Amino acid sequence: MKNYKEALQHPIFDTIAKASANLELDSYVIGGFVRDHILQRKTAKDIDIVAVGSGIALAKEVSNLLPGNPKVQIFKTYGTAMLKTEDIEVEFVGARKESYVENSRNPKVENGSLEDDQNRRDFTINTLALHLSPENYGEILDPFNGLEDLKSKIIRTPLNPDITYSDDPLRMMRAIRFATQLNFKIESSSLEAIAKNKDRIKIITKERIVDELHKIILSDKPSTGFKLLEQTGLLGYILPELIDLKGIDEVEGQRHKDNFYHTLEVVDNIAQNTDDLWLRWAALLHDIGKAPTKKFSKKVGWTFHGHEFVGSKMVFKLFKRLKMPLNEKMKFVQKMVLMSSRPIVIATEVTDSAVRRLVFDAGEYIEELMTLCEADITTKNPKRFKKYHNNFKIVRQKMIEVEERDHIRNFQPPVTGEEIMDTFNIKPSREIGIIKEAIKEAILEGEIPNEHEAAYAYMVKKGEELGLKSS
Ligand code: ATP
Ligand code: MG
Repeated sequence: MKNYKEALQHPIFDTIAKASANLELDSYVIGGFVRDHILQRKTAKDIDIVAVGSGIALAKEVSNLLPGNPKVQIFKTYGTAMLKTEDIEVEFVGARKESYVENSRNPKVENGSLEDDQNRRDFTINTLALHLSPENYGEILDPFNGLEDLKSKIIRTPLNPDITYSDDPLRMMRAIRFATQLNFKIESSSLEAIAKNKDRIKIITKERIVDELHKIILSDKPSTGFKLLEQTGLLGYILPELIDLKGIDEVEGQRHKDNFYHTLEVVDNIAQNTDDLWLRWAALLHDIGKAPTKKFSKKVGWTFHGHEFVGSKMVFKLFKRLKMPLNEKMKFVQKMVLMSSRPIVIATEVTDSAVRRLVFDAGEYIEELMTLCEADITTKNPKRFKKYHNNFKIVRQKMIEVEERDHIRNFQPPVTGEEIMDTFNIKPSREIGIIKEAIKEAILEGEIPNEHEAAYAYMVKKGEELGLKSS
């Protein structure tokens, strides 16, 4: 039998082995930790332990043996316990046998053997267990040939896939997520079973689905996951807005691009340049307004007028439907979608004032916006590809120049409302807003520099035009 002792270097494993011996029970490290060790992935900080007996009792005994007796968190309903040390999180569960009832992903649970416990796991690569008892320390238990599937990069269920996915439809999302993260293939009968059971995704909470979506989006090549979601029919339940981008229409010989596949390319592109989850979401959603705004006219062909605005409104509905946070993260995504064409528009004719306005409107997110627009270049024509990237380089250069001179990025009005009130000896009123806006406009247009002295003089002039008298 193969031995993976070297995976068990962390001192916690030794402690768990001792605690198991004290309680005279067998225990194993199982699942993601073993899988990731063998794949030589950065091993996760969460470790899953199965005890053939009480997981909670084992967790308590481990805590007794550790210096400082770290707190054991007990989840009675699940019969699990968790113990955190400074660098790891260990979850203990008693080996169990599960049986499912329709309409719930929460099974009926009984105590079981290690094999029972391996049976209930989602994928063969997640059933791998390493023995923690002193005599068999590090030996692998692999009843479903998970090792072979790891080698051939296959996602396969230990039992009948149709039942596995129907029992707990979250596994459909997990299969696609692992395929994406690990760059594995989903075995064909599994893929068919997912397509067949897609409808059952409805019993999964939005939060769980979104967790998996986040992981797909954060992987190196998110398009893998979205293509699988589309291919199996799951995407329609989760992000129908993306399905609506699919397809190419042709009228009088004029075609537009397939905005679904374009979007996936943009997401893959941006994944090379940022790990920011929300910027990646923005890339995924940047074109969703194109479906409802699509029009054809003989004169100009296909247009998507106002799709950025419509898209940014759709972001709110989508976040709400998926129970995602309706906070500044969502506002950021909306802003990116709303502004997603702005750098492209100015790139063909880069003027100082257009750049100042861009920087002003994007505010602290100008860098993110530029990253999004660069990822949006998906042309297969190498000449154009180069030209578009070069245009953005010019925009970026101009941004630096303008920023050095005018400090637009964190724009603070150079003349305050109080100063205006003092100067003209007036109370809070409409005029103050008008003057402040006029000063801002003059700066963005380049009529005056972003400096107090110039802005003050401009204020006096504007105020007098409005019939105010400076004191
Ligand atoms: P990661 O932590 O990278 O998401 P993981 O495999 O450790 O991957 P966890 O969600 O931490 O995933 O679950 C730990 C283990 O529990 C898995 O390896 C698998 O054996 C089992 N498991 C988790 N979720 C399910 C599920 N829905 N159905 C069956 N088994 C599951
Ligand atoms: Mg894990």
